[in-house]
Amino acid sequence: MDENYTVLVVDDEKVIRDGCIRFLEPEGFRVTTAANGREALDLLETEPVNVVLCDLKMPVMGALEVLEITGTRYPDVPVIIITGHGTVADAVECMKQGAYDFVTKPFRIDHLVLVVRRALDKQVLERQARDLQEEQARNLYSLALEQSRLRTIINCMGDGVLVTNRDMEVVLYNPALSQHLGLSNPASLPGPLSNYFDDAALRESIESLLQDAGEDPDRRIAQELTRGKTQLRALSAPFFGPDEHVLGTVTVFHDISSFKEVEEMKNDFVHMVSHELRSPLTAIKLQHKVILDGLAGELTEKQRHLIERAHDKIDGLIELINDLLDVSKIEAGHGRMEQVPLNLHEVIAEVTGLLDARATSLRIRLVLEQPTAPTVIRADRRGMEELFTNLLTNAINYSPDGGEVRAEIIPHGNYVEIRVSDTGIGIEETEIPKIFDKFYRVKDPSTRQVIGSGLGLAIVKGIVEAHQGSIEVESRKGAGTTFKVLLPVVPETEDCLVGEA
Ligand code: ADP
Repeated sequence: MDENYTVLVVDDEKVIRDGCIRFLEPEGFRVTTAANGREALDLLETEPVNVVLCDLKMPVMGALEVLEITGTRYPDVPVIIITGHGTVADAVECMKQGAYDFVTKPFRIDHLVLVVRRALDKQVLERQARDLQEEQARNLYSLALEQSRLRTIINCMGDGVLVTNRDMEVVLYNPALSQHLGLSNPASLPGPLSNYFDDAALRESIESLLQDAGEDPDRRIAQELTRGKTQLRALSAPFFGPDEHVLGTVTVFHDISSFKEVEEMKNDFVHMVSHELRSPLTAIKLQHKVILDGLAGELTEKQRHLIERAHDKIDGLIELINDLLDVSKIEAGHGRMEQVPLNLHEVIAEVTGLLDARATSLRIRLVLEQPTAPTVIRADRRGMEELFTNLLTNAINYSPDGGEVRAEIIPHGNYVEIRVSDTGIGIEETEIPKIFDKFYRVKDPSTRQVIGSGLGLAIVKGIVEAHQGSIEVESRKGAGTTFKVLLPVVPETEDCLVGEA
């Protein structure tokens, strides 16, 4: 028995107290004694006691009075009544008052030890049960707290939230989503996804997330959806149970209507200003040409030089305006791009042919490598010309004298890869994610003389994406850069349009 268990023996007969000490201590109990009920209560206040053995009748405060007080002050401590012959009825009365058991005098030691042990077992079990109950109550409380916290967060979010189970039924949505979708009455849950969205793209995304969740648990799908006048950006992801099985999906909807409106206004503005600037600039350019051709009279050497410089500056301005117009057209989705059969080699050869003179003047070798069979894709000719002009012009501009610029066409089944590589100045790793941003130019003293707007690669990216392709960059500072463009080889069908709003 655990040495820490203390038994308090309360009896006015010293012989009983001593007897209990003699027999219980060898059993491993610590025994403490009191001669009457009052002494016992004093002791209980100062010492931890596990079991009380209490004589039924004592001159100062008997067992019934002791029970009355211990029942409220020490409800965990079992009280065993020691009674004489003929007082069993009183002992039963004590049991009614909350005593755990009683032993009759003279008692057998083994019986006494058994009763004490049983009382202790009961006490331990009761404590364990109470601890478990308390823990359960605590867990339930924190679960309820967590749930209420989550519910409050979800309900207060400005973004819409939609949760589906793995059968694609909606199991939860928040007030922001009701507002986005204009739902006036709360729909009953779970309900079919089509009650909320008739959008096939969202349905497909959720379906594919549920299907692929086992292979790619971190997969997210972002898309833009339109509901009436509201434009939403939706980000969907799967969620999992403790066994890592997919349980459903969560989609967060962000209202981007005002952003789109501002974007459209900005594009319209750029479009309008660029148009207004282009016509007078073209007229000035023509007038300069007339002067340079001597049609407005003889020019001195100095006058020719000044007009030629002005002529170049106007060319730069017209190029910038054309870039701005291209970017705003692509961004607004107005970049009408045809899909017509194109021999890629022919397009790139034409572009390299046009840039050859500039490359030669900078002593840069311009090489075009192509497969033996012609690679025919379906794409927009003007778009492709612009794409490769921008990449090859950059490769030439950012290469020192004596370098090499190479264009390669590498077919890969359904895709064709076009690599434009140079042996130029290269791009720092930290700059690479930014170079496709509009107006972004790497600040490098060695390229200060290169005139540019920072729009070329933004246009390139827009054209590639309008053709469902992708673009990657590999570069090492000082060693050169390679741009890899992947374009789908579209099967020969009737002509159609891509990249249209
Ligand atoms: P621009 O050439 O008009 O500055 P781009 O959008 O075409 O604008 O390119 C953005 C930036 O990316 C450039 O300013 C340049 O710093 C970097 N860059 C693009 N192509 C290359 C290249 N081939 N080699 C090194 N840097 C390049």
